[in-house]
Amino acid sequence: MSDRQSRREFMGLAAASAAGILTRPAFSDAHPFTAAPFSAAAEPDLLVLNAKVYTMDAAAPRAEAFAVSGGRIVAVGSSADIRGLARKGAQTFDAKGMTIVPGFTDCHNHAGGTTLLYEVLVGNPFEVEFVTIASIIEKLRAKAQQTPPGTWVDGYFFDDTKVKDKRQLVARDLDQVSTEHPVVVHHRGGHTSFYNSKALQLAKVDRNTPNPAGGTFDRDESGELNGRVTDRARNVFNGVGTRTRYSAEQMAQRERDGIAHISKQFVRYGLTSVHHEGGDLPAIQEVRARGELKHRVSYESSGRVLESMITGGIRSGFGDEWIKLGATSEHTVDGSFSERTMALSIPYPGLSSGYKGNVTETQDDLNTWIERVHRAGIQVNCHANGDVAIDMFLTAVERAQKAFPRADARPKITHCTLINDDLVRRIKALGAVPAMFTTYAYYNTDKFVFYGEDLMKRSMAYRTFIDAGVWAAAGSDFSPGPFAPLMGIQGMVTRTGWDGKTWGANQRITVDEAIRVNTINGAYNSHEEATKGSITAGKLADFVVLADDPHTVSAEKIKDIQIVRTVVGGATAYQP
Ligand SMILES: [Zn+2]
Repeated sequence: MSDRQSRREFMGLAAASAAGILTRPAFSDAHPFTAAPFSAAAEPDLLVLNAKVYTMDAAAPRAEAFAVSGGRIVAVGSSADIRGLARKGAQTFDAKGMTIVPGFTDCHNHAGGTTLLYEVLVGNPFEVEFVTIASIIEKLRAKAQQTPPGTWVDGYFFDDTKVKDKRQLVARDLDQVSTEHPVVVHHRGGHTSFYNSKALQLAKVDRNTPNPAGGTFDRDESGELNGRVTDRARNVFNGVGTRTRYSAEQMAQRERDGIAHISKQFVRYGLTSVHHEGGDLPAIQEVRARGELKHRVSYESSGRVLESMITGGIRSGFGDEWIKLGATSEHTVDGSFSERTMALSIPYPGLSSGYKGNVTETQDDLNTWIERVHRAGIQVNCHANGDVAIDMFLTAVERAQKAFPRADARPKITHCTLINDDLVRRIKALGAVPAMFTTYAYYNTDKFVFYGEDLMKRSMAYRTFIDAGVWAAAGSDFSPGPFAPLMGIQGMVTRTGWDGKTWGANQRITVDEAIRVNTINGAYNSHEEATKGSITAGKLADFVVLADDPHTVSAEKIKDIQIVRTVVGGATAYQP
């Protein structure tokens, strides 16, 4: 197979054109619509009229109407102007005064559709919901009954602060599921897991096992293991016990079903572009070829795909308007915010142990990784939550940029949670792009008490970043956080959680700023602001129709606004 052929297959371009997806006319650069706002040169096939359009285009922030042709916006203006462009056969959508904003972008999402479809969910992926430990045991017991002894039984979407029992899940609870199966409950945050005694025994972990670098085996007051294991300490469970096996064909089927499923969920919540943390690239392409990919994918690669990019000379931005290679997948520098393992420069408030979180990478290893990716022309992306980890990331990027300068590299910082003035100054100087937690300020306020108000004033610091002129974007981190953009916007505007508690009110931003964070700033995060993120002539016709205006409803109701329609490339991708 020739190099060229294999690249074609790699990107799935052959599959896409075979399915007719690329048959829409492409606009040449010479097309006049960007110069003339009401150009009739492109025959509109869709007219959107009588809307309250918040364009997120600084040059013309408000409009009533726009015209779409071949999947792109070709004119934006008043309803009278746009009506004048009507041609035979063009569809008209009368918005009847409803609000329209650009399609939302989530810049950090694990897109775990396979888990949603096929695994045992012990918590609610999308909304705040409290469960009992008994319900977790019951669901896993049912699974264990259909699973051969010795084979793992897994539970997903556990959230330790959404438990009615108001206590920690411990190994003893999971021993009630089974003493013959290794059992694990995965925290939705992805950095801690809870094991039963059988699993600990199979991994040969006991009260005398020391904590490895970058992780912990947690213990109770008497020094016994309690079953909670954090970050890299979980590696001892790899290769232990039996895993349910699937044939290559079954695996591929599950991946395809998972992508198709989550794509429907994304557009249901108004997301039209999502940055995927890895995942099965062939499955995404096949779902697209089947016509079931409803949202646009910025694919963030790791492992084999990233290696292929580096060795094959493929850079960020390769692909098309539906599937494009973006930054790398998050390269992890520290632990988790929600599970309280992120690396802080001070001990965790309220803990007497002096614990400062987990750094999961040495500065030397990080320097090497960043330099290699940066030199390959690929946008680097690291997971850095705590101030210590953000500092390490910036140090590595500053070093790489000094040795191998590249303009407009936009190094991406996933989470970028706890900042200080010096870190913000360095982020601005590097042109780095943070993608911060969005829904946490509503969903996870029950965890902010572990950090306290002083740290929360400097966490998820949207106000500080916007004031500093940094392109702060939204990154739900699903599964750790729900991905609903409207829940995220409500949290950014109010900084008040489901429990009515407000944290870091100094970081509140306006509704307009919050929409910007979720649209045009998201496009900027992946170098796509020329084609996405605002309702502007020449850009892709990706937009959301809302039943109410988030600017005028009471701020505590923004998350409840109904999505009336999600449109991607001029075609309706969701309608209730
Ligand atoms: Zn993540």
